[in-house]
Amino acid sequence: MAILVLGGAGYIGSHTVYELIDAGRDVVVADDLQTGFRAAVHPKARFYLLDIRDRAALDVLFEKEDIEGVIHFAASSQVGESMSDPLKYYDNNLHGTMVLLSAMVAHGVDKIVFSSTAATYGEPERVPILEGDRTDPTNCYGETKLAMEHMMSWVSKAHGLHYVALRYFNACGAHRSGAIGEAHAPETHLIPLILQVPNGQREKIMVFGGDYPTPDGTCIRDYIHVSDLAQAHILALDYLIRGGQNDVFNLGNGVGFSVREVIDCARNVTGHSIPEEMAPRRAGDPAQLIASSRKAMDVLGWKPEQNSLEAIIASAWNWHKSHPHGYEA
Ligand code: UDP
Repeated sequence: MAILVLGGAGYIGSHTVYELIDAGRDVVVADDLQTGFRAAVHPKARFYLLDIRDRAALDVLFEKEDIEGVIHFAASSQVGESMSDPLKYYDNNLHGTMVLLSAMVAHGVDKIVFSSTAATYGEPERVPILEGDRTDPTNCYGETKLAMEHMMSWVSKAHGLHYVALRYFNACGAHRSGAIGEAHAPETHLIPLILQVPNGQREKIMVFGGDYPTPDGTCIRDYIHVSDLAQAHILALDYLIRGGQNDVFNLGNGVGFSVREVIDCARNVTGHSIPEEMAPRRAGDPAQLIASSRKAMDVLGWKPEQNSLEAIIASAWNWHKSHPHGYEA
């Protein structure tokens, strides 16, 4: 039986496909290539070009392939865009997931692991954040992801769907082979933007806010390597296959770094001075997001292997310096 990875041409999806194939699994990838790249899809995966909102295309796939479980990454994921174009997020993320779940129910596929986000919490009550803490998203992206979690729960009650939601903190880094890495157009994430400076594509990095209630005044985030995230998806799917209960897990390293600390670390890794400039706060940014991933460790047996920021940035730099234009280079 095969694992279906929706959004398997995107950043975290493509890394998960590589880990699944390394583990000897049979993998089917579906992606509409809106933001993903065909070149990011592992050559051993069977590829379907489809939009998850297209029920007829999903029916063809589920009829042709023998799917054991679904890993669902196919969603829009930019906070800023979700604020200026919220309906796109309701359409791609909620409507897309609704069509997907209706196809899964119709075809008797009853296991799904999917991307949720730390943005479901909004401004946290405390750090590190636990899964039972208040969820009150400050942006539409987080709102649609939380609604996806609720949708899974109701569909589970009605149709026996089994699901795991994985709430990622800040995904970063690239695959050890150097074959795949992070590529977004436009790029909005801190580490790839910083690395554009030593790559000669940007003169300086803008620091969004220096007046947060943190030790150096800049935002603190929990940076987690994409290959560790990928492993968590496989563990979560195997947990469901073994009969595990529906659940929600945080995925982070449990350590926070400020924007300034990340820039300093990138200076050490690249040997470049990387000029920075203070800019106003970015709308919707909480001051501090740090995960407690204790539950994923205890229940899923997950153990992030890349817990040094230096090693994470070095792996990102390895990809970006050899692929300055992402998959177009
Ligand atoms: N950030 C920044 N300059 C940039 C991009 C991001 O200062 O050019 C900050 C951003 O405000 C946030 C942190 O870096 O505090 C991480 O942002 P990113 O977009 O990478 O991830 P997010 O936390 O939004 O998921």
